[in-house]
Amino acid sequence: MMKIQNSKILITGGAGFIGSNLANKLSTENEVIVVDDLSMGKTKNLRDSKNIRFYKESITNNEFMVQLLLNENFDYIFLLAAVASVVDTINKPVETHEINQNANIDILNIIRINKLPVKKVLFTSSAAVYGNNPELPKSETSPIDPLSPYAIDKFASERFVIDYGRLYDIPTVATRFFNVYGPKQNPSSPYSGVLSLIIKKLSTDKTFYVYGDGEQTRDFVYVDDVVLALEVLAESTSTNYNVYNVATGIPTTLNKVITFLEEVAEKKLKVVYKSSRLGDIKESYGDISKLRKLDFSPKVSLKLGLKKYWNDLE
Ligand code: NAD
Repeated sequence: MMKIQNSKILITGGAGFIGSNLANKLSTENEVIVVDDLSMGKTKNLRDSKNIRFYKESITNNEFMVQLLLNENFDYIFLLAAVASVVDTINKPVETHEINQNANIDILNIIRINKLPVKKVLFTSSAAVYGNNPELPKSETSPIDPLSPYAIDKFASERFVIDYGRLYDIPTVATRFFNVYGPKQNPSSPYSGVLSLIIKKLSTDKTFYVYGDGEQTRDFVYVDDVVLALEVLAESTSTNYNVYNVATGIPTTLNKVITFLEEVAEKKLKVVYKSSRLGDIKESYGDISKLRKLDFSPKVSLKLGLKKYWNDLE
């Protein structure tokens, strides 16, 4: 696998969970510039390095983004800034649309108008675009069924980034993340995914409510593997104008996650089973054969990933 080296990189949302893990890794051999409004992210997620420059700004600040892009001439641009809470996008569809879609299109527009020579613009979409489509595993060619403003904006932006890139000769790629987990995930956020909620309940000895029988499956992928996949997708030119699932390809039940975590933490989780919620998706996991063709395979098993995540908390 080729590594990204000696490059100038922009990461929007780079103080957040996935963005900060990416910034910390890439900044060992590159100059990384992070733009994050800190609505969810934290500067302390970023390691102290002369190779990381941080701007507390919103990507919706067009004037700022124009200046930044013109001044810096980025080689790689990773678009991770988003309101990642589905609930927030339902409550504030107009405001979140500005961030989750329009600001990203603006960035592409700035690149096009000024003919900026980027090597790749990578947009991070979500498995949420598959919605309730029952096909399993979910492959990039599966029907999509976005069920929230979040998923609609993700899908539309994904298409925009890919088609706009093709139309104007800007190298672009999009990723659909499944359930990413690991250090720097904000466990106090009610939206940061079931796994970090379980961890929070377990570490504070609180009760975790399982909706349904706990046999529902998800595809949990460790953040280090996600960062590796992002690097491969950005670096390879064969990925241009494509969308890729980023997952492990392995379905895991909620009950199994709980068992694994109890083993790692060496304590029992208080669990109460409740009836399943309307609209809950029973099974979800990704087909990652397209990603594997790039010589990528996830390296961190769920058990190991949970151990690393748990140990990082203490
Ligand atoms: P996160 O909330 O930790 O990161 C998003 C970052 O964007 C935050 O630091 C936030 O402060 C920042 N941000 C929000 N609005 C902004 C704005 N207007 N201007 C600048 N920065 C802004 O979430 P994450 O889990 O790290 O997600 C990163 C990306 O991956 C998001 O686009 C998310 O939708 C996508 N994604 C994540 C998962 C997952 O499992 N974590 C799954 C699917 C897709």
